[in-house]
Amino acid sequence: MTVRVALVTGSTSGIGLGIAERLAANGFDIMLNGLGDAAQIEATRADLEVRSGRRVLFDGADLSKTEAVAELVARTETELGGLDVLVNNVGIQFVSPIEEFPPERWNLILSINLTAAFLACRAALPGMRSRGFGRIINVASAHALVASPFKSAYVAAKHGIAGLTKTVALEAATANITCNAICPGYVLTPLVEKQIPDTAKARGITEEEVIRDVLLAAQPTKRFVTVEEVAALAHFLAGEDAGSITGAIIPIDGGWTAH
Ligand code: NAD
Repeated sequence: MTVRVALVTGSTSGIGLGIAERLAANGFDIMLNGLGDAAQIEATRADLEVRSGRRVLFDGADLSKTEAVAELVARTETELGGLDVLVNNVGIQFVSPIEEFPPERWNLILSINLTAAFLACRAALPGMRSRGFGRIINVASAHALVASPFKSAYVAAKHGIAGLTKTVALEAATANITCNAICPGYVLTPLVEKQIPDTAKARGITEEEVIRDVLLAAQPTKRFVTVEEVAALAHFLAGEDAGSITGAIIPIDGGWTAH
């Protein structure tokens, strides 16, 4: 089979790592990216390389920095011989009432959760056009479709990702390049684990009440979406069979946005 190359931003943990594992297991060479403990990341990279038998590289680019995003795309193309599947997954969260929301946190969330995806699309599209194939998968959120209180920057950035997704899809439609957004409900990853105490504080309730009455309250299945479920959807969108799916904002949220 043809070896495809995938870059997954923010893939040292959580959903991004799950998508990278799924793609590597199905024949993709992978560029991992993210922050964290260097030794732990190297162990993850080496383990994935051995288990998949694919080439797996890591680049620790900080995607809040404008120039770092294009450099990461360029390094992927140079060292792995191209870039067929771009997964814009990197994202952070901060929970606070808007009156107390620090403007610098707003700017950081917008730069990581929205601008980095724009910059990566901008850098990756010329190579995808010249190779005649491309799949861009933006990991958005149910918060690209609906809001929750105390998450102003995150919700604004994720709604922005939906607009970016549709625009890129239209611009690239005749070039065999698709661009779609995956919108998970709550998945139990470090990002969610970290916001439980903050949400408890912001709402004046216990952490158990946050899980039951806030996180899973709107998710009709009453369970967290799994990383594996999100990775399987990303894998499908990365393939040839998904060639007519583009500009789609796809919920995978246990029915949350069906309300
Ligand atoms: P996570 O915290 O487990 O992983 C985030 C990844 O991004 C990590 O690899 C981290 O190192 C990396 N990262 C953070 N800041 C970075 C930076 N400046 N530069 C480069 N890498 C950086 O989070 P997750 O839950 O796996 O979330 C992944 C994506 O899924 C995010 O876009 C998030 O908004 C989205 N999402 C998550 C959930 C959920 O419930 N967990 C739901 C919907 C959408």
